[in-house]
Amino acid sequence: MNPSKILCIGRNYTRHAVEMSSVIPTVPLVFLKPPSALINPGDEIVLPGVSSDVHHEVELVVRIARQGKSILREQAMSFVEGYAVGLDLTARDIQAEAKKKGYPWSVAKGFDTFAPLGAFSPVSDIKNPHALDISLSINGNVRQSGNTRDMIFDIPFLIEYLSGIFTLMPGDLIYTGTPEGVGPVEDGDELEAKISGLPVLNVRARRAG
Ligand code: MG
Repeated sequence: MNPSKILCIGRNYTRHAVEMSSVIPTVPLVFLKPPSALINPGDEIVLPGVSSDVHHEVELVVRIARQGKSILREQAMSFVEGYAVGLDLTARDIQAEAKKKGYPWSVAKGFDTFAPLGAFSPVSDIKNPHALDISLSINGNVRQSGNTRDMIFDIPFLIEYLSGIFTLMPGDLIYTGTPEGVGPVEDGDELEAKISGLPVLNVRARRAG
């Protein structure tokens, strides 16, 4: 089922904000990806010709169970259906240009195949989503390694904040941000994204054309 929306949080880990020379946010930085960006495990990431610097960002993804608006953080976890590993692919050169001009990030974040998503585990399988090792390897070399405890805004806070803006619908996804170590993805790379307790996400990248 396609989600009605994919909500993404930028700079939700301090050391990633620092590596991007970005200000550490005091409220969540929110952007959206189109559902047409989703791909499944085993599918291919297509690196678009208009970017020469597509970056990987491994993220814990939350799937919403039921409709909700203005959800209080105390109730927020009852709106979570499950968790998966996701990748927030980013055309960093296009994003840098957009930042400079004050333009939105929709293009940099929204290409087809820019939202690989692993299989979901039910919420009952994960005791504490804020204590999970999270990592990304390319061709067997670890590039990102962190822990979800280092999120600046935790999941209940994000659900409270986002549902104050958007009505959350069943199946909606929240990409909760990436730890440090982001870097380029090249033609032929094999990506392996892992979060402890969740099914591994494997995808390969190829250049368009
Ligand atoms: Mg991200």
